[in-house]
Amino acid sequence: MNRRQTTAVIVGNVRIGGDAPVVVQSMTNTDTADVKATVKQVFELARAGSELVRITVNNEDAAGAVARIREQLDQTGCTVPLIGDFHFNGHRLLEKYPACARALAKYRINPGNVGRGSKRDTQFAQMVEFACRYDKPVRIGVNWGSLDQSVLARLLDENAKLPVPRELAEVMREAVITSALESAERATALGLATDRIVLSCKMSGVQELIAVYQSLSQRCDYALHLGLTEAGMGSKGIVASTAALAILLQQGIGDTIRISLTPEPGADRILEVIIAQEILQTLGIRAFTPMVISCPGCGRTTSDYFQKLAQQIQSHLRHKMPEWKRHYSGVEDMNVAVMGCVVNGPGESKNANIGISLPGTGEVPVAPVYEDGVKTVTLKGDHIADEFQEIVETYVRTHYGVQPG
Ligand code: SF4
Repeated sequence: MNRRQTTAVIVGNVRIGGDAPVVVQSMTNTDTADVKATVKQVFELARAGSELVRITVNNEDAAGAVARIREQLDQTGCTVPLIGDFHFNGHRLLEKYPACARALAKYRINPGNVGRGSKRDTQFAQMVEFACRYDKPVRIGVNWGSLDQSVLARLLDENAKLPVPRELAEVMREAVITSALESAERATALGLATDRIVLSCKMSGVQELIAVYQSLSQRCDYALHLGLTEAGMGSKGIVASTAALAILLQQGIGDTIRISLTPEPGADRILEVIIAQEILQTLGIRAFTPMVISCPGCGRTTSDYFQKLAQQIQSHLRHKMPEWKRHYSGVEDMNVAVMGCVVNGPGESKNANIGISLPGTGEVPVAPVYEDGVKTVTLKGDHIADEFQEIVETYVRTHYGVQPG
């Protein structure tokens, strides 16, 4: 698929847009003022593969903590750029905490939440001036839940005067896009270069999001940040985000993505990174981690042994990937098949780089392993899982180029 050409924006050590690969980003949910907890979560998100991490900067304690968070991450060798998420008081926080302004690699400005009434334009201008002063890019991030009401009111007024007024939903979509484009225009008039601006127009409805981004991408060359806002929890959030982003990415729209999942209580925040990576990888846009191909199981797999093996191998591959990435070039493209019985097992195993076909109910209790289409060994006994994991390790060591360091 052809990526739509946008203006590249440099954010710390990461490039968004232009011919750069689609960038995965995430956002913390710790209290930013809690330096220890935030450093830990940023580190985990970065280790999982988040290439940018956004943190909320909502008050003085948070702003005062940002430079320390940056320092502590640097000390651990974690160089992931931090993005500051500002609303309402960003202009004051950037003024009072210059170390925060310097430590952040990008500022997110929401035109609908930058200030109320007459303060809106002044405070937006102040935010842009700080971006110019500290040479930082910004994301002008419109969210339909906090849409600038003055833009909406103006467009509704204009719509009411049309001979055939457009539907309300259409006017809403237009207001979201207009808010982003007019804010970008104002920012450039204030001196911010176009290659310092990323735009987003987040909606919570899948069809709305697709319609907005299709239109936005036709009307500007800014790098676009893609995400379904308030996607929801669990499978609903994953499916809705995937449905919306897959269609847009397939059309070449989107330079960086974030999955806005509501975490299940106690769930790991890195899930949003994994989903973003898997959307890109299953679409064939980027590869991050070797993929496990596994069958759904059926009446031929009456024990959960095969599910456990598929899960163990997927977790092992993901766990090893940060280390493998440094040493084994191309390992992220590897496919591993874990199949439940001989019906489709050998076929899928032969097509994968490495595959195992477990014995189904009533079959001889042996598990043939295929490497590059050839049966190399048949495992049996109580240690099939560990032995297969070791075979995968050896395959990685012997098939992928060793990189320095
Ligand atoms: S490969 Fe075997 S166990 Fe898996 S779904 Fe097909 S028939 Fe069932």
